[in-house]
Amino acid sequence: MSATLAKCKCQHCNQKIEFDSDSAGATVTCPGCGMDTLLFIPQSSPEPSTIPASKKNMSTLWGGLFLLAIVIAVMIVWSRLTDNAQDEGPGIPAMIVSGVIWMCAAVFGICIYFLPAIVASQKKKRNRQAIFILNLCVGWTFIGWVIALVWACTVDPEPAK
Ligand SMILES: [Zn+2]
Repeated sequence: MSATLAKCKCQHCNQKIEFDSDSAGATVTCPGCGMDTLLFIPQSSPEPSTIPASKKNMSTLWGGLFLLAIVIAVMIVWSRLTDNAQDEGPGIPAMIVSGVIWMCAAVFGICIYFLPAIVASQKKKRNRQAIFILNLCVGWTFIGWVIALVWACTVDPEPAK
């Protein structure tokens, strides 16, 4: 296999550097600024920071959706409760409706309770089982839930090898 010519930008001054594709991954001294820069092939490894950033946005989006869902559920349940207080005897259909709403609220509540574990598994964290156990055992204390969520949101350190 003969080496092909590749181009990448210096990480310090953005000057284009030409190199053999075999040298990708090597560190060279940039001819423009004299700093050490890593040679990389742009097509195979585009902007390393782009993918984690979009994943972070996705988890923020999910968190926002969960919060929105719980707010809506609480508002519906609250309006149901005040309605029932005004009516003397709610009929069977009203009871079924409120039952369904309570069920939905319970499901949302469980989702919120396990939000740290869900976030951890979405992010494919290595210690997601530990986060789940923490979530399960001390999630009922608000502090434990916050700790599990913060832990789930932390970035895994690079494997030390
Ligand atoms: Zn440079």
